[in-house]
Amino acid sequence: MPKVAIIGGGPAGLSAGLFTAKNDLDTVVFDTDETWMHKAHLFNYLGIESIDGTEFTEQSREQVEGFGADLRVGEEVTAVEADGEGFAVTTDDGEYDAEYVIFATGTDADLLEDLGAAFTDEDLVDVDLSMETSVENAYATGALIRNQEWQAVISAGDGGAAALDILSNEKGEHYHDFDTPADAE
Ligand SMILES: Cc1cc2nc3c(=O)[nH]c(=O)nc-3n(C[C@H](O)[C@H](O)[C@H](O)COP(=O)(O)OP(=O)(O)OC[C@H]3O[C@@H](n4cnc5c(N)ncnc54)[C@H](O)[C@@H]3O)c2cc1C
Repeated sequence: MPKVAIIGGGPAGLSAGLFTAKNDLDTVVFDTDETWMHKAHLFNYLGIESIDGTEFTEQSREQVEGFGADLRVGEEVTAVEADGEGFAVTTDDGEYDAEYVIFATGTDADLLEDLGAAFTDEDLVDVDLSMETSVENAYATGALIRNQEWQAVISAGDGGAAALDILSNEKGEHYHDFDTPADAE
């Protein structure tokens, strides 16, 4: 059973999956491959001078899979229900149980509405600074929570924040995913 189910494989979902898989949480990412990145070319992602959005996505997928995440491109999530102990995630190909769910579906908030998450007066998903919604252990990122602030690096940051909160919950204390030069040797 995956510990973390991530819905959406754009910068937000892949960034979340990188952190959770890198830190050994069993992670599955479902993605219908309609990320806006396929229409974008990045000149404003810090550390990257210039990259085609599809190439960025392909490299990001490889990086996340390299850390052990189960990336299911083409599999659509059709429902998410809280079942008391976690979440039942239904896709067009099966059913999964997960303890945490991260919604990274771009502008599509339907699944979160069905789950009963609270929304703000601006019709955005209401989250705290760690991206957690009013439904415990359910997180929302990117355009779900931001009015028109649609930039890849911001979505990636949201995904990282959600993942770090999950990691902190799991470890029982604030977790810092710090590496040092020695780790790269
Ligand atoms: C023309 C254009 C140019 C842009 N240029 C730039 C730029 O230069 N710089 C920049 O920073 N940003 C740019 N952007 C914006 C950037 O693409 C977005 O900010 C970024 O893609 C948002 O990432 P995200 O992960 O939040 O959502 P998305 O990238 O939208 O990813 C959401 C993913 O969730 C999947 N999904 C949705 N529902 C489901 C479901 N039920 N089950 C499974 N999967 C699901 C979708 O298929 C999609 O792959 C541009 C956008 C456009 C349209």
